[in-house]
Amino acid sequence: MHELEKWLLPPRCVLTGELADITDLSSPIIQSLKRPSQVCPQCCEPSLQGDLCGACLTQPPAFSRTQVGFYFAEPLDKLIYDFKYHQKPSYARLFAELLVSRLQLDNVEALVAIPTHPLRRRARGYNQAELLAEALGKILQLPVIKQAVIRIKNTSSQTALTSRQRQENLKNAFQINPERLIGLSHIALVDDVITTGATMQQMAELIHKKTDIKTCQAWSVAKTKR
Ligand SMILES: [Zn+2]
Repeated sequence: MHELEKWLLPPRCVLTGELADITDLSSPIIQSLKRPSQVCPQCCEPSLQGDLCGACLTQPPAFSRTQVGFYFAEPLDKLIYDFKYHQKPSYARLFAELLVSRLQLDNVEALVAIPTHPLRRRARGYNQAELLAEALGKILQLPVIKQAVIRIKNTSSQTALTSRQRQENLKNAFQINPERLIGLSHIALVDDVITTGATMQQMAELIHKKTDIKTCQAWSVAKTKR
């Protein structure tokens, strides 16, 4: 958080309401968040000693690396739910600050948010992944490329679907504007939560098929534990 911003809007824990140290969540709560460790660098699924997992060795995903802040568990799950469904767009800054502390920038040059369908965006008033990407971009001083990929299929909520059903559901869900990504080689796709990785896979696959992008990383605040 910038000094002036901090002075104008002192950090206050969104859960307890108490004044916090550096971000809008108190330090003990931040400490208690469950962080993935011993995971495959490419897909963030558990792996021995943090090596590349068997699945990524045999059939590598289209994204080169997955960087996730935390597991989707209490109390982060509730905060993300409020961010998405209860009109809390201001949480974007908090999530970006939490995620940045866990990220390695590597050679990423720009960010692309996972798009929502225009109808859903209109109903909600914002796309939470885009707000998150903008907040991250501000901290990391990286551009956020808008309209690079758009969602043309209003997929129903994927929460109850299996990995295979998600892949099917997402078929032809996105359309790309390749000219938006000209001149870039390494990007990160940004979402609030990664569940099966199906959305990241579809997006990265499409980007590799239609552009000269060399690597797409997958970044998210949280990931569900399988
Ligand atoms: Zn893996």
